[in-house]
Amino acid sequence: MSKSSLSYVHPSPTSPWGTYLSQVDRVIPYLGHLARWSETLKRPKRALIVDVPIEMDNGTIAHYEGYRVQHNMSRGPGKGGVRFHPDVTLEEVMALSAWMTVKCAAVNLPYGGAKGGIRVDPKKLSRNELEKVTRRYTSEIGLIIGPHSDIPAPDVNTNGQIMAWMMDTYSMNTGATATGVVTGKPIHLGGSLGRVKATGRGVFVTGREAARRMGLDLRGARVAVQGFGNVGSVAAELFAEAGAKVVAVQDHTGTLVNDKGFDMPALMAFSKDQGGIMGFKDGEQIDNDAFWDVKCDILIPAALEGQITAERARKISARLVLEGANGPTVPEADDILAERGVLVVPDVICNAGGVTVSYFEWVQDFSSFFWTEDEINQRLDRIMVGAFDHIWAKGEQHKISLRTATYAVACERILIAREERGLYP
Ligand code: GLU
Repeated sequence: MSKSSLSYVHPSPTSPWGTYLSQVDRVIPYLGHLARWSETLKRPKRALIVDVPIEMDNGTIAHYEGYRVQHNMSRGPGKGGVRFHPDVTLEEVMALSAWMTVKCAAVNLPYGGAKGGIRVDPKKLSRNELEKVTRRYTSEIGLIIGPHSDIPAPDVNTNGQIMAWMMDTYSMNTGATATGVVTGKPIHLGGSLGRVKATGRGVFVTGREAARRMGLDLRGARVAVQGFGNVGSVAAELFAEAGAKVVAVQDHTGTLVNDKGFDMPALMAFSKDQGGIMGFKDGEQIDNDAFWDVKCDILIPAALEGQITAERARKISARLVLEGANGPTVPEADDILAERGVLVVPDVICNAGGVTVSYFEWVQDFSSFFWTEDEINQRLDRIMVGAFDHIWAKGEQHKISLRTATYAVACERILIAREERGLYP
């Protein structure tokens, strides 16, 4: 791992920022003269740490730590979600913001990369407390967000309602309704059709493209998915619709297997209703660790970072890994999977469907003219397939992994913009 040149984080080889730095190091040999600018990728442009105090329902005052990191804005305003999770740290948000920079450039959206988060367990808050945390955080980061500067969106444990509160708080503070300040909003507030399912849909589209090139037939293919939120459940549902069998599902409540393949609409309805998959009648519960031993053709990590460790990479039976989550594979595991002939479609292209439809939402908000769901899905498909084709060709040309190929395509775009703009002041 390259040593971090920053004094304020201390990454390890498997931590999110350490993982990101290794990924950047691997692309530098393919950047030609642009390598001169590569240090820019290893430093966030700006990182804001904020205190988020709220009065709890019981009258006590609680303080939470919040962050907004703008990694790079060479190609346009910052773009990226906001995560509410008890394990959120500055280092994690930095890595997530950097992955947004790479992701937006990989699909050629006119954005830089940013990310935010609050170190809080939202499941322990009442609705009233959640709203207060959201509004105070939005006011604090209001210094640097805006429809033309940095546009938040949903991520882990945040949703349309939270985006509505963010949009309202920003709008009340600035004196005018600014729907374009966040994406992933409810439809009535300038949200876009297709946004909720977009990330999962993009995972399916890139997975379909990869499977076709590998000669892997989706009909009858065995799929295992870790994480059953917006990304994992939708991707699994689309694979099931294409004839695949979803044989293993893991979420925060546990792991279920079903050798015949789950009835996806039923499992999704159950999980939505019960807040998790555990207790679903047509599945056998297994140990969480045994998830990695399940025989499958396609594995979709769609939960948190660092899940595919070196040890797990040695036993994964899938031929194709689709990174629905951000940063699920540590660098050593990446190498093991490559040696074992497992194709990994990396997060920075695999889960780019979400931010792509966020871009559509933002464009629709500015033009105040809204597209049909079919138009959204067709445009999404076109962008994802085009980006995947381009990246695949880059990988073939240099005989490099799809991850390094994606970084090569994306970092070239970012650093050309950097060079053309020049250093100022
Ligand atoms: N949080 C999502 C991601 O990691 C979406 C970000 C966005 O739509 O801006 O890509």
